Amino acid sequence: MEELDAFAYSEQLAAGAPVLIPAGSIEQHGPHMPLHVDSLLSRTIAGETARRIGAVVSAPISYGYKSQQRSGGGNHLPGTTSLTGDLVTAIAKTLVLEFVRQGVKQIGFINGHFENYQFLYEGADLALKELANAGHDNIRIMLLSYWDFVDDETISKLYPHGFTGWDLEHGGVLETSLMLHLFPEQVDMTKVEDSPPAELPNYDVLPVRPELTPASGCLSSAVEATADKGRILLETASAGMAAAIKSQFEHTPSSP
Ligand SMILES: [Zn+2]
Repeated sequence: MEELDAFAYSEQLAAGAPVLIPAGSIEQHGPHMPLHVDSLLSRTIAGETARRIGAVVSAPISYGYKSQQRSGGGNHLPGTTSLTGDLVTAIAKTLVLEFVRQGVKQIGFINGHFENYQFLYEGADLALKELANAGHDNIRIMLLSYWDFVDDETISKLYPHGFTGWDLEHGGVLETSLMLHLFPEQVDMTKVEDSPPAELPNYDVLPVRPELTPASGCLSSAVEATADKGRILLETASAGMAAAIKSQFEHTPSSP
């Protein structure tokens, strides 16, 4: 969308192209990666998915909901700069209404930041209610977090020493491998700290106790990340999301 002129964009929407909205964050990702990892990856994986189904990728939601200590290290960490939940909800709702106003009927949120999900859902739900009241009953919205499309077989191949779960993957093998494959110039593997997965309680406590987050800000080690794993992850996640979207959206223009 950002690179299209308005006429080419309108043509794509008129042909029935779904719109994919990447949702990321500005959040610390350890000493070895930049703050925009979630925004960059959601945008790039949305692009790879869109290519497979003839969708348009919208400009991304660059900031996200507050980083949580048990999935992103916490919102207290330097660099992590977040939106409130009502704001993420309002942005998601507003974007749905804006795209529908322009004639879009099928919208997918491609989430790259764990904490965004419920607020995107709420925004989508509120927008749908408002649209239904205005007589639009043919709008369909999907929400997809890309890591949910990495299947068990791929997980066991990529994590031969055991998988700690997606919540502890912050700044770990998943994101670092994808970054090594897609944007190697933005990763410094010499700064990766090889420490065991963070041991966090199975509850939250407020105000946050900073000492619970590892000093690196990463919740698991990225030492086993490789560009080749990133290539496999990109392929698996985008193929899986493309298939899911095709199964739920009525008509997607075939890819070029
Ligand atoms: Zn992340």
